[in-house]
Amino acid sequence: MSELQLSDVRKSYGGLEVIKGVDLDIKSGEFVVFVGPSGCGKSTLLRMIAGLEEITSGDLIIDDERMNDVDPSKRGIAMVFQSYALYPHMTVRENMGFALRFAGIAKAEIERRVSEAANILELGPLLDRKPKQLSGGQRQRVAIGRAIVRHPKIFLFDEPLSNLDAELRVHMRIEIARLHKQLATTIIYVTHDQVEAMTLADKIVVMRGGVVEQVGSPLDLYDDPANLFVAGFIGSPK
Ligand code: ADP
Ligand code: MG
Repeated sequence: MSELQLSDVRKSYGGLEVIKGVDLDIKSGEFVVFVGPSGCGKSTLLRMIAGLEEITSGDLIIDDERMNDVDPSKRGIAMVFQSYALYPHMTVRENMGFALRFAGIAKAEIERRVSEAANILELGPLLDRKPKQLSGGQRQRVAIGRAIVRHPKIFLFDEPLSNLDAELRVHMRIEIARLHKQLATTIIYVTHDQVEAMTLADKIVVMRGGVVEQVGSPLDLYDDPANLFVAGFIGSPK
């Protein structure tokens, strides 16, 4: 579990500023959901937190340490993407262990972590299958497994369910909520699905055009949206 602060974080591509001064406090163990229209900067913000994208200005603080220039592999963060390309020629077990092998972790410890993640995600019976022998939901669970085995302090999810059909999305949403409780970890989650946001979040961050419009609990935003944009996005009657 880990605390995270963003302080006046900005990002420019060429001369164009796409993240325009974001301030945010995320508490240890919180489930924070980012929502906002396509192109508003949600993925860019996540990628900066993960260290996959340089922060143009401002500070990223994790557990009181400035992380702007820290190597992605040393931030204690694991990210799960929308397109969860698994290695097709490797089994589920090998897919989950690969990054750890690469990081030089001992074989016995890799095996221990893979079975732990497989238990959590109920992937035990599938460990020797190849990705093409799995359903979409099972593949997504393997992608989450690859993050879990790294024992991150913070999980980042970028629209992890948007490639799944509606029924599977509901199922996976419940799985992710259970995972959050079980691992008691900090989760930062991007979605454009209001229902996902309202049911998963401790705290919702509504973004538009590179700025944060409002931050609050689902109930706060529903009862007291700051403006019509937030009301429309959250589905509040106000
Ligand atoms: P979201 O995830 O909310 O849909 P993004 O973070 O992907 O939004 O994009 C935010 C803005 O930054 C968009 O206008 C997008 O075109 C721009 N952008 C993202 N990545 C790049 C890049 N590598 N080069 C130039 N512009 C980019
Ligand atoms: Mg995005």
